[in-house]
Amino acid sequence: MENLVKEIPLSEVMATLELLGHLGVTRNTLTRLRVRPELTKQLVKSMLRGPMFHKFARDIMGKNFFGAEEWSYFYHELRSKQRLEVTDFPWGEDVLNSACLLCGKTVKDCHFAFLGLDRIGDKPLTILGWQKLCPTLGDLNFFSSYDGHFKLISWYAKEQFATKIMTSLRWYLLHIVPVLKDTTYDQQKARLPAELRQDEQARAYDQQKARLPAEYEIPSAITEVTKNLLVFRETRNFMNLQQRAYCDDITSRGYHVDVGINENTLVIGDMGSINYGVGVAASRKLPSA
Ligand SMILES: [Zn+2]
Repeated sequence: MENLVKEIPLSEVMATLELLGHLGVTRNTLTRLRVRPELTKQLVKSMLRGPMFHKFARDIMGKNFFGAEEWSYFYHELRSKQRLEVTDFPWGEDVLNSACLLCGKTVKDCHFAFLGLDRIGDKPLTILGWQKLCPTLGDLNFFSSYDGHFKLISWYAKEQFATKIMTSLRWYLLHIVPVLKDTTYDQQKARLPAELRQDEQARAYDQQKARLPAEYEIPSAITEVTKNLLVFRETRNFMNLQQRAYCDDITSRGYHVDVGINENTLVIGDMGSINYGVGVAASRKLPSA
């Protein structure tokens, strides 16, 4: 917990008092705050709740944040219409500083916050759109073929989840690493005949989904891919190394899409992986109004 007396310079205290004075707060009001802690608690609770100006969210999230300024700096200036539609950051300090319901760390440390875009310039930002925009990102490459060499034609080049689905123009707060990883599922799957695997995957996915806390949902593959790329862009860490996350989309073969990073490649699959545990991607739901 911060020691405000030590950390806030006198000039800031004075500026705050001046503003409060302009708003009609008197010495008497401040005294009441000290002698009526239940009143103060209520006031502070509403101050810590979202939404908040995104600059404050960036200050809290540090490297785990990618907003309008970062998009403009690294990729493309947002269109003026897009800029107008960007809302305040929907989650408050209370959520970002709380204990994570999925892993127990602090939310700001194990989540990545980003502004989702539907388009970059006039191009839709689908998974294929990302692939054209940055087939390689420093050391991180899209994995597009099973012989290990980069190709422009991917197995998902005609799949709806990669060609049509985009993130919405809104704020996202995603868990950085997959959650509810169930390694035994891979072992079970490997023993199953091929025709049963699809049902088995759907069953495992539904079970994982049911175990997610009510505050979370499983995002689309484009949302998970965007998060992985931006996390790498910001931190240069392969945070999802050898971890795959199921996403909500279903491929034309009937499997859930999984997304992850293996060595230095971003891998998009549709049957999970025999070698690594497959968890689910987790996206914090927007707070209800
Ligand atoms: Zn967590």
